[in-house]
Formats: sequence, C-alpha cells, structure tokens
Amino acid sequence: MNNRYLIRNARLLDPVNGSDTIGSLYIENGRIAQVPGETAQGTVIIDAGGLCVAPGFIDIHVHFREPGGEEAESIASGCAAAAKGGFTRVVMMPNTTPPLDSAEMITATINKAKAAGMVEILPAGCLTQGRAGGQVADLEAMRAAGAIAFTDDGSTVPADKVMEQAMKEAARLDCTVMDHALDPAIAGAGALHDGRVAKSANVPGIPSEAEYKIVERDIALCRKTGCRLHIQHVSTKEAVHLLAAARQEGLPVSGEVTPHHLLLCEDDVDPADPDYKMNPPLRSAADRTALREAVTSGIINVLATDHAPHTSQAKSRGMLAAPFGITGLETAIGITYTVLVSDGTMTLLDWVRAWTVNPAQVIGIAPASLQPGQPAILTAFNPGTVWTVSKNRIVSKSSNMPYAGIRLTGKPAWTFYDNRLIE
Ligand SMILES: [Zn+2]
Repeated sequence: MNNRYLIRNARLLDPVNGSDTIGSLYIENGRIAQVPGETAQGTVIIDAGGLCVAPGFIDIHVHFREPGGEEAESIASGCAAAAKGGFTRVVMMPNTTPPLDSAEMITATINKAKAAGMVEILPAGCLTQGRAGGQVADLEAMRAAGAIAFTDDGSTVPADKVMEQAMKEAARLDCTVMDHALDPAIAGAGALHDGRVAKSANVPGIPSEAEYKIVERDIALCRKTGCRLHIQHVSTKEAVHLLAAARQEGLPVSGEVTPHHLLLCEDDVDPADPDYKMNPPLRSAADRTALREAVTSGIINVLATDHAPHTSQAKSRGMLAAPFGITGLETAIGITYTVLVSDGTMTLLDWVRAWTVNPAQVIGIAPASLQPGQPAILTAFNPGTVWTVSKNRIVSKSSNMPYAGIRLTGKPAWTFYDNRLIE
C-alpha cells in the first residue's frame, strides 16, 4: 500500500475555514499532512489538473437493498455507485428485508461495507421493532454496534406515543432521529402529488398535509423530548415554514432536500412513467421554489439523495402498483450543482458545506475538512464539465430515474478513501 500521496494542481475547497485556494495536498498514512519541502521517494503524485478537491461528500440518505433485495442493489453495488457519484460516506436506511432493527444486523451491514471497500457505510437503525411502528427497538444495543441515527424510513412512526418513547431513548443516547414525515392515513393509496397532473390523469394523490402534519407533530415531540430531529426529504412549502419557525425557536431540528425535488416538480411528471414515482412525490412549482429558497437561505442546509433503486421489472408494474423511489447517487452532484451553483444562487463553498459539514453535523460526526491531521477522505469534481445523463453509464444495479438525456453541469471525477484513489 502506498503511504504517501501528493495531489498537485488542485482547487482546494475547505468548508471549515472557508478557504478556496489553488495548491497541493499531501497525504501520509491516510491522513492529511503539511506539504513537505521535498517529495520523499515512493510518493504517488496525482495531478488534479485544476479539479476542485473537497472533503469527502456525505449522503445521509441511501437505500441499499441488502439483505432481501440484492437484485436491485447490493451493498457492494451501492458502494460502487456512491463512489462513482463522488461520495465517500453514506447513511444506509434500515428498510431492508429483514430490517436493520438489531445490533447483529447493524454489525453485519458495517462488515459487508468494509469488505466492499470504496465507501464507508454508517447504518441507521430502525426506530421500532421490525419497522412495524408498535414497539421501540433496542436503540441502545444498535447504537453500541455502530448505528449512527434512527429512523423507520419508508414509513413514519404513526403512533405519537411510540414516537415520543423512541425520541426520549434516542435523546438519552445522544443520537439523531430522522423521520420520513408522511401520515399514512392522509397519504392513503396516493401515487403522485395531489395536484393538477394527478387529477387530470386520474391517479390518486398524496396531499401536502400528509407531510406537514407529521412535521408539526415531530417538532412538538422534539420540543418535549430534547431529541435531535432531522426531517427527511422535505417536499412541501408548509414543512419549510415549520422548519424555519422551529430553527428560529432554537430547537435542534434540521431538514434535507433531494436533488429531484430541487430539479423537478409535478409539471415535469409523465403520469404513465413510474420512474416519476417517489415518496414524497414531486410537488407543485411553488413548493419547488420554496425548497430552493430554503436551501439558499440555510433553513434546509443538507442535501441528500434518497437513492432508492428498484429493478426494471418492479418499476414496470404501472404507476399505481410500482414501488416508490428513484436512484440518485450518480446524478446528485450534477443536478445540485446545476440547480444551485451554476446560475449563481448559491456559492460553491456553501454547496460543498451542504454535502459535507452540514450532514456530518446532523449525524454527530467530526466535520469534514482538509486540515492537517484530518483523515484523508476526499471528493474531486469538475464544476465546468457539461454532460448528458445516460442509463447505460450507470454503475448502480438499477437505473430507475427520470433523467435520461438531461444535460447537467458539474461532474464527479474521483474520490480518495481508505488510503486509495478511486476513479
Ligand atoms: Zn423516506
């Protein structure tokens, strides 16, 4: 194994001290070190060719389908897709089959990720046993095994009392609760946003209320329990307003927005194509505007993909029967750079923060930086590359996404993780 790397000719972006400089980065024994006056023999020289080099990007919301759905995505294929997309660390959701609701399941996931290499998986554990919403799972044992957060993602915890108990326990363990805020009683059998497109296509709708009623409840429980709360995939303007008020009040509440909710809205949906079906759904143009404004103002300061692979067979069942979800790891940098940075609405460094420091803060890990002494975990990307998305070039086992043929600005180039360059 090489123990010394010198990365030359890079645009170094360090979100911790806000620096943006052209220079070199030196890595020794897996850690960033001062660039030496003379290059020692055996040092691997990497010419970055002017690429942006930042701390490794973190995606705190991915679905890898192992165990139970490896034909859609295994841990190994998910890690490869994440690295290809410029990510070095991911929080894997626990809605596998069976779900990650015990210390043994958490340990097995971490070990499989280590065997795959390329990306670190920080697994989230279930809030409730079997993700069934009835009894709080053994959060303490999962925390000890390495669970980074708790969520029943894919579902909310419908019973207020159970959610309160789970949040009390997570607070005691100093661990964040992430919620998929969607009231099943209001969402019903909806498949698309309850708006113009769903109505004209006669597809049952998911009202915005299904989201913001649960966000309202979760914020009240955050106030009551003191538990750190993170609202996953925020999709409605009403939820943005609730988050803004909660943050104003000083509550430990954060939220994330996905690339697809920033790029698209219901007007883009083809109601006959299940690659436009995800949960929460693409909402109105006004909701999308509110989400973009929330990201630029910092009310929502985390970007996350909700990478949700499904086989083409599962997605071919039609809009009503197909499962919810689209893939996102390999298009996330391009979409969010295009929507947020290329037109100047967000600075490059703030965008890097939304993929590094801010998600690290949500899950309580050390902030990603390029300072000497820090682990060498890096993401390199080219902000100037204009490229066209093609399903044929996807590394993930699944390509259920509505992006084929769209042009994006900004492309991941390589990552550095576990003392090696991953191209
Ligand atoms: Zn979800």
